[in-house]
Amino acid sequence: LTETFSELVISHPHADHYNGLLRCASSGTGGVGRGPLLVDGATFFHPRVPENPEARNLLFRLMALNTVLSGLPETALSSAVVACAAGGIARQPLMRGDAITLAGQPVDVLWPPKTLDARSSSRLQRLVQSYDDLAADAAQQGDEQLLRVLATIRDRWENVEDALYGPTYASSELRERETPPVLDGDLSDDEGIVERERDTADSLRSLRHAITRGANLLSLVLATADRRYAFLGDADASVHGDVASVLVDYELEVLMSAHHGTYFSPELSHLKSRYVISSVGPPLLANVRDEYDRIGMHLRTHRAGDITAWVSDSGTWVVAGSPRP
Ligand SMILES: [Zn+2]
Repeated sequence: LTETFSELVISHPHADHYNGLLRCASSGTGGVGRGPLLVDGATFFHPRVPENPEARNLLFRLMALNTVLSGLPETALSSAVVACAAGGIARQPLMRGDAITLAGQPVDVLWPPKTLDARSSSRLQRLVQSYDDLAADAAQQGDEQLLRVLATIRDRWENVEDALYGPTYASSELRERETPPVLDGDLSDDEGIVERERDTADSLRSLRHAITRGANLLSLVLATADRRYAFLGDADASVHGDVASVLVDYELEVLMSAHHGTYFSPELSHLKSRYVISSVGPPLLANVRDEYDRIGMHLRTHRAGDITAWVSDSGTWVVAGSPRP
């Protein structure tokens, strides 16, 4: 691999969506034994956090839980971006209605919206409330372990996007201050996290699960302007109708399934695509939805190996690597 990249897109701040970047960062060279992965002046795209206070409150709590339960520091993503960059990085938050260019292709942002509707925001509010209830219970019962975990939300975080994705990377001075994250264990999918959770209280474990699912409401969904390629990220089922209405009149070439192929709702069944790709490993494999098979040729990375799709004058090429052992 000798390619360098001028654009980096992170669909949402879940470690299973940037563990490749963490690996590159921890290899010390920022690019697996070669030069940095990202060119000087590269753009780092990520979802904008909707302006509802619940979204911000939920993400702070997600960071707090992940810092303790997964052992990934809350700054891991931003440190990894810096460690993989040859120089300055421009960070750009995205929301529905934005139009950007990725690898020369015009791309539309379909999700998240600037403001979540009442149903979504009350769902997030309920999750925030369960976190705070659990914290209150822990305080009352003097549960030290639980309190330690729940007290991790830090007041110093003012801007949730800065906290999640780093401040700005315009200056190379920043690079010198940052240290690449230290990784332990296997980050592939959620295995490392599952391992740690065995020692964790049930209440905390189910709270983390619920909050993690809630954060999928905030995932990026992208489609090329010609509607031939669409990337559903970890889009929650409640978002599928919204997204499908933008894609349903088109013949897609490649559709990246939602949440590793495990989220599917009837609204998606009207879509047509030459290929459907599910990026999935053992923890979620059993939950991949066969309904995607009816949309197009459904390739699962667990079976097919790493999948590369590219566009040429003669059409879309999809190449699968060897299956993982
Ligand atoms: Zn995911």
